[in-house]
Amino acid sequence: MPTVRELAALYDNVMVPPRLGPGVCRTCFTFTDGYDQCYACSTTQPWLDAMAAISYSVAGEQLHHALAGYKRLPRQVARRLTIQLAAVLWRHLEDHETCLAARTGIARFDVVTTVPSGLKQRDDRHALRELVGTICGPTKERYQRLLERTDAQAGEHDFDGRKYAALARLRGQTVLLVDDTWTTGASAQSAACALKRAGAGPVAALVIGRHLKRDWRENDARLRRLPQPFDPDTCVHCGLPASLASSPQWQRQ
Ligand SMILES: [Zn+2]
Ligand SMILES: [Zn+2]
Repeated sequence: MPTVRELAALYDNVMVPPRLGPGVCRTCFTFTDGYDQCYACSTTQPWLDAMAAISYSVAGEQLHHALAGYKRLPRQVARRLTIQLAAVLWRHLEDHETCLAARTGIARFDVVTTVPSGLKQRDDRHALRELVGTICGPTKERYQRLLERTDAQAGEHDFDGRKYAALARLRGQTVLLVDDTWTTGASAQSAACALKRAGAGPVAALVIGRHLKRDWRENDARLRRLPQPFDPDTCVHCGLPASLASSPQWQRQ
């Protein structure tokens, strides 16, 4: 049996780690024309307190295929991808969950949940819940299904506070909200909105892949300048100064 780290390492040649800096959206890490936030983040209500992405997911490339395939391919192939992606998430959380918690201004995440599918018919059997709730070691004990897709007529990639309904009341618990992919952030922000209305404390999102297109503007050159192969020891929030890592707006209830 391969170890978690051996399985996760299978992706080290196809993952490209986001890094903060000039011309990178400070919320979702997509490349911008010099702005510190992308258009989608600057126009979507910011319900999330923080966000981290393990890698960029480049359209049409290997990680993108894995992140789509574990939900849609025939069972045996999908199962193999689910276990590999769970290992990627597992290794990342073992090494960097504290970095995201610090960025969120908290010590730890009390509860872990997942963003439901944007499409109601896919929400009933969602492979992401199995990945996070039953396979991934650092999350499975804290996992709760907290949200479901409602009948609201929102598009798959549109922000809508009525898109998801909470399945439980929360009393200020801190929540780690996991999704496989971040495209516009509308789904994760909609989910964070529903969690906070249900009583959640700070909510941070962690995604495996921040989706982008290689052929947009300078993306190809900018992707090539990032560390390769992937370095699992450093995340997008590693080494954040303590002064930045506190969110004074929020007080524990
Ligand atoms: Zn953004
Ligand atoms: Zn880190």
